Amino acid sequence: MRLRPRKAVLGLALALFGLSFCGVGCSARISPHLPPSWSSDASSPSPAPSEEPSAPSEGAGTPSGESKEPLHSDAERPKWVFVPPEERESVLVLVNATRRLPAEYRPPDLVRPAVRAWIPEGDERGLLRREAARALEELFRAAEERGFRPVLVSGYRSYALQAQLYARQTGGRDEEPEVFVVAPPGASEHQTGLAVDLGQEDGKYLLQPEFAHTALARWLSENAPRFGFVLRYPAGKEAITRVVFEPWHYRYVGREAAEEMARTNVVLEEYLAARGEGN
Ligand SMILES: [Zn+2]
Repeated sequence: MRLRPRKAVLGLALALFGLSFCGVGCSARISPHLPPSWSSDASSPSPAPSEEPSAPSEGAGTPSGESKEPLHSDAERPKWVFVPPEERESVLVLVNATRRLPAEYRPPDLVRPAVRAWIPEGDERGLLRREAARALEELFRAAEERGFRPVLVSGYRSYALQAQLYARQTGGRDEEPEVFVVAPPGASEHQTGLAVDLGQEDGKYLLQPEFAHTALARWLSENAPRFGFVLRYPAGKEAITRVVFEPWHYRYVGREAAEEMARTNVVLEEYLAARGEGN
């Protein structure tokens, strides 16, 4: 669906505005249990792929078999691990502050969903994994049948772009902030190609907490699970997700998992932990 030129310009401006505030996630508040090298490592756009941190002895999920380096001492041990390669393409992949994607990771089957979007044609931020793209099209169709006008504001985001957003947010400072407003590169779910930021066509409350009070946001939170999407960072789960409430950020996990998570009021971390997966 194409927007009329004037609206498209407005939309693009809003989308770019929003993007600059949408880092995780979007805005993530990450607990300060960080290794000494965390900030500088994380803000570097292209760490050497071989510089994978050793897995902590617990809570690391499936061993990756990639730990080529000797274990660090407790004081030096990184507090995050790379998502094991065999998990990266799962629709249930868990990416957060403690489980990150490497710089070179790019999903294999990115396509542009045929939905209203504030992202220029050809811009990779309008892409999603194929399965998520098809599901988003169905979600939008259902929303429009109810009279809503949803807009895709942000989809896939590369590690490099996340690194730029993070560097802009931190101003290149090396010291460890207590709270990260923008997720460091590798820790954004948008890099999976399974996450979307949604808005409404009038641009009201774009990427703002107040979006939660719109009829569209309420409809999405109730109905998105039928299409395989969950509200990924709900209010009240911040201690688990380590991300502030983001009523606009949805994550594709597949219908079965989404409906189960909605029914039992759990987030992805809890859902996977109950299954003995993730961390
Ligand atoms: Zn987001």
